[in-house]
Amino acid sequence: MSAYPMSPLMGQMMHKPLLISSIIQHADRYFGKNEIVSRRVEGDIHRYNYTECHRRAKKLANAFAGFGIQIGDRIATLAWNGYRHLEAYYAVSGSGAVLHTINPRLHPEQISYIVNHAEDQYLLFDITFLPIIQAIATHCPTVKAFIMMCGRDHFPADSGIPNLLCYEDLIEDNSDQFIWPEFDENSASSLCYTSGTTGHPKGALYSHRSTILHSYASAMPDGLNVSARDSVLPVVPMFHVNAWGLPYSAPLTGAKLVFPGPHLDGKSLYELFEQEQVTFSAGVPTVWLGLLTYVGQNNLKFSSFKRTVIGGSACPPAMMRNFRHNYNVEVVHAWGMTEMSPLGTACTLLSRHSALSEEDREKILTKQGHVLYGVDMKIVDDAGKELPWDGTTYGNLLVKGPWIINSYFKDEGGDVLEDGWFPTGDVATIDADGYMQITDRSKDVIKSGGEWIGTIDLENVAVSHPAVLQAACIGIYHPKWDERPLLLIVKKQGAEVTKEELLHFFEGKVAKWWLPDDVVFIDALPLGATGKILKNKLREQFKEHKLPTAQR
Ligand code: ADP
Repeated sequence: MSAYPMSPLMGQMMHKPLLISSIIQHADRYFGKNEIVSRRVEGDIHRYNYTECHRRAKKLANAFAGFGIQIGDRIATLAWNGYRHLEAYYAVSGSGAVLHTINPRLHPEQISYIVNHAEDQYLLFDITFLPIIQAIATHCPTVKAFIMMCGRDHFPADSGIPNLLCYEDLIEDNSDQFIWPEFDENSASSLCYTSGTTGHPKGALYSHRSTILHSYASAMPDGLNVSARDSVLPVVPMFHVNAWGLPYSAPLTGAKLVFPGPHLDGKSLYELFEQEQVTFSAGVPTVWLGLLTYVGQNNLKFSSFKRTVIGGSACPPAMMRNFRHNYNVEVVHAWGMTEMSPLGTACTLLSRHSALSEEDREKILTKQGHVLYGVDMKIVDDAGKELPWDGTTYGNLLVKGPWIINSYFKDEGGDVLEDGWFPTGDVATIDADGYMQITDRSKDVIKSGGEWIGTIDLENVAVSHPAVLQAACIGIYHPKWDERPLLLIVKKQGAEVTKEELLHFFEGKVAKWWLPDDVVFIDALPLGATGKILKNKLREQFKEHKLPTAQR
């Protein structure tokens, strides 16, 4: 029953529930010959099309029906981006079951925690992850069988797992005649756990309706801008918030899909981009470093790559400029979170911005951007009072909309909304045109003498230095100011820069009192399961670090 009042005059339109199965049916019927190309875990390239994908998804759905899977049951995947994973996306949710995508980069204990928390009944996995399954199998009592996503030729003779099934056997043994069930569009469709850098991961439980609305909105021109003319390579994993919705928005629009499997190094990606004439891609900033380094070192160019969406953490302007100026690739900066399915904003320009200088346009494009229709946002102070949209006042960012969570799975964390708004945990400004810019994660912001220093700005300046590959800025205890910025730098291979040179480079680029108090050069930054820099780890690692300014 709807919670809203009924009008005495209701619209007289067909009521079709918004179901995920309708996407693959549409892709089969209207874009059947459009290709899905995968670099497989087995090493070779696999290619087929939407019709064949739909056919195999129906066979898998029949296998699940044979297992007695009911609407609402959870089925997990531990898999790279590939065609079998896509089949599971549609077979599981299309059957009314809930697709639980697990991030294989989590610790095995965290994986078994979330499998148990989700009460997964089946778990499909790529052959690369057999050791993880061997480690967790006996700790996951709800799982009736583990399904290895391979053919008989790669199936182990003795895995030590008694309830191990072969994916291709299931495909072969089942009929491709399957009628996708119809049910309420608010039914749960998929489940993603937040990375859980602090505490246990919590589940965001999406519905069919939220997923379809998110797919529609995200495909629009000022979102991901995906169309039937695109060849889309999601670098962002299908276990990271459903690859930002691309496994839905690509078939919805008829775009060709290109899956890189586990091969995310610069060379493998570049080859696939060229072979499959990729026009559009998406991923977190850290994965692009490898590709840009490879392409730069080998003096290569892209022949088809036009546009990429970068998000998940702040995209440094230096990376945007590199893409734009050296490779003619447009970068769309986007922001979102697991709790938002994930897309909230994307940064594209208004027509009146064409009158601005290139420098001013670039300034706007470094922001996280405009909301997509469906998302509403505001910034508030600590007392909850709404703050002005002037581009400089910053506050806690709150959002609402039909693809944003209401509560976590099994009500972990209790009531999460504040007056109907979801608190993102981000600190941001919003300008008069509605462009939002993240200053920081509220827990990463540096509190110096009662004022806040945003670390993203400092990191962006650092990585625009030619010798710097990666930078992270953290707050370090200071007896006078509470906290002061410490800059951690990974240098580019073979490049040299001193602490003094780097600090000098900051002058005039940020307010004087924002200048980092110290710089430490390190070999690598710790990355989390979704490729983001783990600042809590860095804070722990450097908690005893004495700032030179703190010494008498
Ligand atoms: P996801 O798994 O989609 O990365 P998480 O829930 O792990 O989502 O993290 C979401 C957080 O990532 C946001 O709240 C924000 O702090 C950060 N984030 C995402 N995109 C950006 C961006 N473009 N710029 C800065 N921070 C970002």
